[in-house]
Amino acid sequence: MPCLFCSIIAGEIPCHKVYEDELVIAFLDIGPVSTGHTLVLPKAHAENLEAGSVTDAECLMLAVYAIAPSILKAVGADGYNLGMNHGECAGQDVMHTHLHIMPRTNGVPRSFTKTHPSQDELATTAEKIRAEILKVG
Ligand code: 5GP
Ligand code: ZN
Repeated sequence: MPCLFCSIIAGEIPCHKVYEDELVIAFLDIGPVSTGHTLVLPKAHAENLEAGSVTDAECLMLAVYAIAPSILKAVGADGYNLGMNHGECAGQDVMHTHLHIMPRTNGVPRSFTKTHPSQDELATTAEKIRAEILKVG
């Protein structure tokens, strides 16, 4: 069965992309636990972190470093949870390495329950995040 995230990377399945460089792509989670919940992943397919290259592992965290502050600004959040579900036992549903950036806001309870925003809402959030990322170049 083709990999869902490889299909997204190839442009065969649409996504709300917020960032892309040579090795990494980031797009909004379709079932966010908070507004701005973003998935960051190496473009090269690997089932888990250690199945991929060290370079991809490094670039994943570099991308978090680069874009997380812009995500927080865009959605008015104060911090974030960074998560990786590694293996089925840990809740990994998509077997293509990815990190979850889950923005958090002071005074708002931390929920890990998925929500179901409309495509329009996701598009608006992605646009705000892209605009903030552009500001920092
Ligand atoms: P995992 O459980 O593997 O760590 O996370 C997979 C994530 O991918 C889930 O949070 C889920 O909501 C998200 N997801 C599943 N299908 C799609 C999709 O088609 N598009 C996007 N953008 N996210 C998806
Ligand atoms: Zn893949």
